[in-house]
Amino acid sequence: MKRNPTREVKIGTIKVGNGHSIAVQSMCATKTRDIDATVSQANALHTAGADVVRIAVDNKPDVEALKEIRKQTKANLVVDLQESYRLAADLAPHVDKIRYNPGHLHHFEREKSVHEKVKFLVGVCHDHGIAMRIGVNCGSTDPDMIAKYGHDNNEAIVQSALMHVDLVEKFAFTNFVVSIKDSDPKKVIAANSRFAEIRPDIPLHLGVTEAGMPPDGIIKTRIAFEQLISQGIGDTLRVSLTVPNPRKPEEIEAGKSIIADIAAGRFRSVPKNFGEGLNIISCPSCSRVENEKFVELAEEVKRLTAYAAAHKLTIAVMGCRVNGPGETDDADLGLWCGPSHVNLKRKTEEVGTYSYEEIIPQLKEKLDELIAVRA
Ligand code: SF4
Repeated sequence: MKRNPTREVKIGTIKVGNGHSIAVQSMCATKTRDIDATVSQANALHTAGADVVRIAVDNKPDVEALKEIRKQTKANLVVDLQESYRLAADLAPHVDKIRYNPGHLHHFEREKSVHEKVKFLVGVCHDHGIAMRIGVNCGSTDPDMIAKYGHDNNEAIVQSALMHVDLVEKFAFTNFVVSIKDSDPKKVIAANSRFAEIRPDIPLHLGVTEAGMPPDGIIKTRIAFEQLISQGIGDTLRVSLTVPNPRKPEEIEAGKSIIADIAAGRFRSVPKNFGEGLNIISCPSCSRVENEKFVELAEEVKRLTAYAAAHKLTIAVMGCRVNGPGETDDADLGLWCGPSHVNLKRKTEEVGTYSYEEIIPQLKEKLDELIAVRA
């Protein structure tokens, strides 16, 4: 396949970029502190062919668990840091890569500049010889970039990624990849194409975030990957699916099958009217998920809203408070989970907080109101 001339990045036992095979990744959805469950899931993903397995780490107990998990799996491990960037120093000896989110670097230690925080992260990765991912997400874009380029502007996420690339390179570090993700495949195509046009040398990790449940989640991801990979863009990827934990290896199977199809020139057309009606986006869940009922809730939302399939509305279902509030802002109706309650939003407006039993009828009521208003 035609590939962009990206530079080589080493992640544990594998290399990406510079013509190496496209690596397929996934992420554990178990509680990181549940060592047995996380080891078992990391090993299941590894056995399914995952080149890299990501694990969320948010606090010291997670770090301690990660050290034990490292001993019990051969998978290449990447840790996902959102706000607690300082944990990188404790984690680095035990992992192969660190992912940070530029949009979340603002929340901790506000007295410090982003510049200082990135310098710290680069120092840690450099000293331990591990890789880094600058992982930009549309729902948690750097506030300075939103102010400069406007909300929902593709340019804001692309420029955020480029600014962090400049910062990391200023500290003479090159063992990194970039990702720019959104839940809309069209935006993923636009943002990654634009970034690759400006920096074709930087390896890109591709993904449609919150793609949702199969088969729609796989179709949305395939739409983006077919367009990007066929242009030579993409060195690693993940298919994010909302599925119960035992089915997580399906993310690897889906990723490998999309790559094989593109390599063989088998481009799939999408079902008639796909993407024209109701769009349900949902996160794939991870260690941060606040209630085990999350996947069931997402499935229930899909079942309940089937009657509204023809209406062009977006419903977002998110698993936690870290990304839930931001990633639901663009949805017509957004749900994000707390430990015992679910928060319901209409775009950025907070509608209320409901128990897991109450939320479905509440959602139906608000959905009917929206449909009536539009009619
Ligand atoms: S929204 Fe929260 S639970 Fe879902 S994948 Fe993102 S961080 Fe994990």
